[in-house]
Formats: sequence, structure tokens, C-alpha cells
Amino acid sequence: MERKPLTLAEKTYMPQIVSGLGITFKNMFRKKVTMEYPEVKPPIPEGYRGQPALVKDPDGREKCVSCQLCEFVCPPKAISIIPGSIPEDSEHANVEKAPEEFDIDMLRCIYCGLCEEVCPEEAIFLQDNYSINGLSREELVFNKEKLYDIGGVREDEHFKWKKKKEAEVSGNPHH
Ligand code: SF4
Ligand code: SF4
Repeated sequence: MERKPLTLAEKTYMPQIVSGLGITFKNMFRKKVTMEYPEVKPPIPEGYRGQPALVKDPDGREKCVSCQLCEFVCPPKAISIIPGSIPEDSEHANVEKAPEEFDIDMLRCIYCGLCEEVCPEEAIFLQDNYSINGLSREELVFNKEKLYDIGGVREDEHFKWKKKKEAEVSGNPHH
């Protein structure tokens, strides 16, 4: 088949270059949709489900009572708990149990939030961090200390284990 010969303008490539640059200039003045991650991070919506972590109450007590419900419900079996008891002479001995060991394998976790949903003690919450990285599988299994470091302190709404609350309740039979 006979090819159509190029015109003089086509031979110089100028029309194509100019129309290409036209698109480039047009985009230079459009609103930027890219960002310089990780220095700039997108806003995180409320209720975002990122890494799970354990929290303590404002008195420094571990809220987790090692009931193992979260371990049972976790679909990928990312949580492993060894239950422990609180020594009788502890200031928090009004609660019997706390975890001896509590690990979450962040490589297994699918951030479903079921652990937070099921926890009867408001002891485990999904955080807004989604950037979890490491150089080995072992370091991505977070132990109890690390989980408390991440979770920090979180006041709950019920205070059901507080000694003060217990005193109030026993002092007033109507409540
Ligand atoms: S968020 Fe889901 S997958 Fe992750 S530890 Fe909790 S229950 Fe398991
Ligand atoms: S985090 Fe909550 S559900 Fe999991 S063992 Fe502790 S108290 Fe139970």
C-alpha cells in the first residue's frame, strides 16, 4: 500500500511538539493532585482502621483482662495472648487478670477492627497509623510493651474497674 507522503510541517515535527507542550502547560496550572509522601501525608478520616494497639487507663492500669475474646475473633489469627494474673498486693488488684504476654503480628493483621469491636474492656483500639514497616518478620510481631507504647492512655466511658467507682456504688445501694 502506498504511504501518504509527509507534509513539510509534519517533517519538522513542530505541530506535534507545540500541541504536546500545550498539554504540558495546561496541566502546570491545574490543581495538584499528587503529594510528596511521606513528608506530606493525606488527612486521615475519623474512624480510620489502622494498626491495633493496647491502651491503659489514666491510672496507668492495663485495661486488658486477658479474656482472649480478641484472640478468638481475629480472622487471620494475628493475636496471641498468654493470660496472667495481677498480684494480690498490686494497687490494681481489684481486677484479677492482665495479660502476661500479648503479641500482634502486624504482617497478619488485616485491620478489620473486630478486636476493638469485641473487647469488653475498651482495651484495644485501631490507631490511625497505616505505615508499618520493618526489615524482618520478627520485628513486625509487636509485643505488649510496644503495643502499650503505641496505644498510650485512653480514658473509657464506663470506669467499671475503678476503686472510686466501686466505693461510690457500694456506698449508695440505689446505683
Ligand atoms: S484488626 Fe482484625 S486482624 Fe487485626 S488484630 Fe484486630 S481482629 Fe485481628
Ligand atoms: S484486649 Fe480486650 S478482648 Fe482482648 S484479651 Fe484484652 S480484654 Fe479481652
